[in-house]
Amino acid sequence: MTWEFETDPGYQSKLDQARELVVEEIYPLETLDLDYDTYLEAVRPLQARVKEMGLWAAHLPPELGGMGYGQVHLGLLNEIVGRSYLAPVAFGNNAPDSGNAELIAIATEQTGRVDQRERWLHPLLEGKLRSGFSMTEPENAGSDPTLLEATAVRDGDEWVINGHKWFTTNGSIADFLIVMCVTNPDAGPYNRCSMIIVPADTPGVDIVRDVSTMEHPHAVTGSFWGHTEIVYTDVRVPATNLLGKEGDGFKLAQGRLGPGRIHHAMRWLGQAQRAFDMLCERAVSRYSHGSYLSDKQMVQDFVAQSMAEITSTRLLTLYAARKMDLEGPSGARMEIAMIKYHGAATLFNVVDRAIQVHGGLGFSSDMPLEMMYRAARAARIYDGADEVHKVSVARRVLRRYQPAEVPSEYIPVRREAARAKFAHLLVEASADD
Ligand SMILES: Cc1cc2nc3c(=O)[nH]c(=O)nc-3n(C[C@H](O)[C@H](O)[C@H](O)COP(=O)(O)OP(=O)(O)OC[C@H]3O[C@@H](n4cnc5c(N)ncnc54)[C@H](O)[C@@H]3O)c2cc1C
Repeated sequence: MTWEFETDPGYQSKLDQARELVVEEIYPLETLDLDYDTYLEAVRPLQARVKEMGLWAAHLPPELGGMGYGQVHLGLLNEIVGRSYLAPVAFGNNAPDSGNAELIAIATEQTGRVDQRERWLHPLLEGKLRSGFSMTEPENAGSDPTLLEATAVRDGDEWVINGHKWFTTNGSIADFLIVMCVTNPDAGPYNRCSMIIVPADTPGVDIVRDVSTMEHPHAVTGSFWGHTEIVYTDVRVPATNLLGKEGDGFKLAQGRLGPGRIHHAMRWLGQAQRAFDMLCERAVSRYSHGSYLSDKQMVQDFVAQSMAEITSTRLLTLYAARKMDLEGPSGARMEIAMIKYHGAATLFNVVDRAIQVHGGLGFSSDMPLEMMYRAARAARIYDGADEVHKVSVARRVLRRYQPAEVPSEYIPVRREAARAKFAHLLVEASADD
């Protein structure tokens, strides 16, 4: 029997190096408000160090320049990388490019389309191209992708795409967009859509704006991490730009989102741990009403509650990762759904408490907490709204139960059965009396 909670020493030493790099080299860069290109310049030597450590693009298989680590290893790494929003670039797994690279890798593995790897995947991995994933539509509930309306119609050797998308992260700076659209309207609800690669400079691709959000209240269109609204009007791309097989859009999306959710949950955990460190440091430093905050029971409740939430999220996420390593994304479906909402809630709660313990300072931009809080709020919406994952977990759990006219634990009935079963003991007991 194996039931282990340890990281093997070889990998642990890589994790220690990764942590040192994030804390010593990347945290300082956060304070400089660099534009993205200057940041890339600053981060290049760090990328070389990450490659030397053997942690570059760790989510990808070795033939694509990654490390081929399983989800547990990746989870542990993402816990460290997630501590800083700038760190993923240094580790070659920056969203959405990392997820899109995974998507193209999965699709081309199925179809054997080496040309697509050379044209899109390799330059993406080398950082020569940038990408966006264009699925959500303002007019339709993103939570129910069977409602998607954007269409791609085959015309000779081309697809002609029409649709309206928004929240395409990095859409305004992308070189190409992976667009989810209906190609087979008469097929079943989960076989109607396909993914098609659209170069961003194709006529008919109209970048309307980067949507201002709680995270970026004054979005400037054309910035990194913008969430872009795009109108596609009679956009023509070669038929060969189809990713995977026609009608396989949902299957591909599942392949991308399963591991992605584990990575996200571990990154949220890294953020939550960082906020927790700030919470505890402030608690033992700030004096009020005759004692330190750390002596107040309500603050101790914050600490105890946060610690339990962080620990449970960590164990649940690593368990989901382990299950995924053993059984694949479909075998770990329920665990992945649970970490989505449990992880998002942990992040949100811990950052919120850390702000509270810092008082006005926590609300100010002199601490990173207010930014972390704004980013944390989105975690309950993207990667599928929490409620959708809760519904899915509840449905799966409830399938295991049968209706009972009388509750199976109803004591009077159980007592009657027990009396019959143990009648001999009861007779002896009454004889003893
Ligand atoms: C920061 C960020 C980045 C994003 N990046 C991308 C991207 O790169 N590409 C992309 O295509 N999209 C992206 N999105 C969009 C995201 O995927 C959608 O916002 C998400 O899927 C929810 O869809 P919706 O916004 O249409 O909300 P809706 O589907 O309209 O849902 C609204 C609310 O209704 C409730 N709800 C919905 N369904 C149910 C249900 N079955 N049971 C109970 N309650 C329910 C939930 O509370 C939900 O929050 C991003 C979003 C954010 C916030």
